[in-house]
Amino acid sequence: HFEQSQLLSSLPKQFFATLVAKVNAIVEQGHDVINLGQGNPDQPTPEHIVKAMKTAVENPIYHKYSPFRGQAFLKEAVATFYEREYGVKLDPTSEVAILFGGKAGLVEIPQCLLNPGDVALVPDPGYPDYWSGVEMARAKMEFMPLKKENEFLPVYTDIRQDIVDEAKLMFLNYPNNPTGATATEAFFEETVSFAKENSICVVHDFAYGAVGFDGKQPISFLQTEGAIDIGIEIYTLSKTYNMAGWRIGFAVGNKSVIEAINLFQDHMFVSVFSAVQEAAAQALLSSQDCVKELVSLYEKRRNVFINALQEIGWKVEAPPGSFFAWLPVPNGFTSETFADTLLEKAHVVVAPGIGFGEFGEGYVRVGLLTSEERLQEAADRIKALNLF
Ligand code: PLP
Repeated sequence: HFEQSQLLSSLPKQFFATLVAKVNAIVEQGHDVINLGQGNPDQPTPEHIVKAMKTAVENPIYHKYSPFRGQAFLKEAVATFYEREYGVKLDPTSEVAILFGGKAGLVEIPQCLLNPGDVALVPDPGYPDYWSGVEMARAKMEFMPLKKENEFLPVYTDIRQDIVDEAKLMFLNYPNNPTGATATEAFFEETVSFAKENSICVVHDFAYGAVGFDGKQPISFLQTEGAIDIGIEIYTLSKTYNMAGWRIGFAVGNKSVIEAINLFQDHMFVSVFSAVQEAAAQALLSSQDCVKELVSLYEKRRNVFINALQEIGWKVEAPPGSFFAWLPVPNGFTSETFADTLLEKAHVVVAPGIGFGEFGEGYVRVGLLTSEERLQEAADRIKALNLF
């Protein structure tokens, strides 16, 4: 038996592991559980992408080590994609880095830019992997509350000046997991001035960049004037093309940060399997009809579920983006006791807000990752509990 390193034992506990154990116990009792607690897209990868992968796998050149720092054709495809979707021009060699999915990039970045004791500003509630990366860098986290009254955007003037002075890095994420909020141009402009004034590197996690509802495409941080001088954006193919299992994403933006990520990855990996890179390039370059269809599927599910909950008297709001809804828990419950009640009495799994940070308390997160019928069924089961 070997002891774990101090680093490993200091990493934040995986809150959702407990939830998974509770869910498995109910499933084992033979109950029909509707799991809205996770963030795993339920649709398959579009066929043309799978086909591209099958062809690429046959190419013996791809059986060797992929080039360090990724295939040039994928970085060029990324640049074409960003210009086409967002009007942002990127230099494929110096402003694009290939990642093993968004998660790897998000965890690497603090280690690339922070020294022990440096401060990183992290949204609360937020995606828990930001915490892991900051901890691995032995840096300090300062949370920026995301409150409903501020449209779930952080308020920079609320951050204490001594913290601002120490901060070197900031994570943002819109469309947001878990709140479903989207950013405005004005907010991103304010972010650029705040970051410039205080020499803070902005890491914008754009994992749900494709998922905006009511005809509104979410905006890229790099569309903001001056953003590339102080930040990067992390994009993943996991959600846009249902490729979560493929582990492919990229970072785009500020050259010095891209260089740092590449250098880190030179030590850690070689590069993603080239056949995956080839399929990813084709996903970015070919028709985006599959993305439109996916967004409209999520939008229909959102409408069905939110309407059904409103009808039973639960005061919930429709999220403008992402595939999550952020629902206030009724009086008398914490996010955890409410999630437990729904699991035990309705066999419906939701993620308690506290798992995303202190300011997530009072909410539960629901993923729109099952059919309209199952979402309706979940709402019917919740109705039968007469909580509203
Ligand atoms: N960022 C956010 C906000 C996410 O919700 C996720 C996935 O759930 C990721 C990043 C990471 O995605 P991946 O590592 O699959 O690219």
